[in-house]
Amino acid sequence: MESQEVEEKIKTLAKWVGESQNIVFFGGAGVSTESGIPDFRSIDGLYHQKYDFPPETILSHTFFEAHPDEFYRFYHDKMLCLDAKPNAAHKKLTQWERDGRLKAVITQNIDGLHQAAGSRNVLELHGSVHRNYCQKCHKFFDAAYMRAHVGIPRCDTCGGVIKPDILIVGGTSLVVYPAAGLIRYYQGKKLVLINKGTTAYDQDAQLVISAAIGKVMEQLP
Ligand code: NAD
Repeated sequence: MESQEVEEKIKTLAKWVGESQNIVFFGGAGVSTESGIPDFRSIDGLYHQKYDFPPETILSHTFFEAHPDEFYRFYHDKMLCLDAKPNAAHKKLTQWERDGRLKAVITQNIDGLHQAAGSRNVLELHGSVHRNYCQKCHKFFDAAYMRAHVGIPRCDTCGGVIKPDILIVGGTSLVVYPAAGLIRYYQGKKLVLINKGTTAYDQDAQLVISAAIGKVMEQLP
């Protein structure tokens, strides 16, 4: 997309934000790529890397049960990005919530970066790397414990295998379904899509900004 065209669209979005007090933001992995956490689908995303199965398969409950060692190899390598910091997109959403413009952030991400930026009403559809439970005695473990335990992390009380509290995509259809389902609930006339690539919902949106989300958000009021 031409940068002048993007600039015009950002101005429109800025006007809409200025007029709104009921914004809901729906996000996915692209929100955190500018914080250094790779997404699943971009050119340099997780699909182009060294694993024998797609991320959705590795992160499914069936795979976790059958191959916990392989699951945790991937999880430690790709999902426990505990040093990542919120970027301009996370920070802008926090500011809008404090200003009373934004009511909720709905996210597919499990990285906890919206909360790290200060957002309060965050609905995590797929859980969080910050919540982990022993499958046997249900004792809670934080992300630091998970990072410190290479291999399959086990409960320090009963020895049970710890499972991240992550409700992850079981097949490809779910990647699409929650987003599609939620977007259909929106009845208004200001659906805005900010995404680097095209999406299946571009034609349903009133404003499609094909650009990096952090760069777009930092230009908004
Ligand atoms: P996805 O990988 O399927 O798609 C990411 C989309 O974001 C792509 O269309 C890409 O073009 C776009 N994008 C990437 N960087 C962008 C940027 N800076 N600005 C604007 N757009 C950008 O991601 P998904 O739809 O969220 O589905 C993947 C699943 O994997 C989700 O369920 C999610 O929970 C999980 N996941 C989470 C994280 C995380 O927590 N940070 C990271 C990877 C995957």
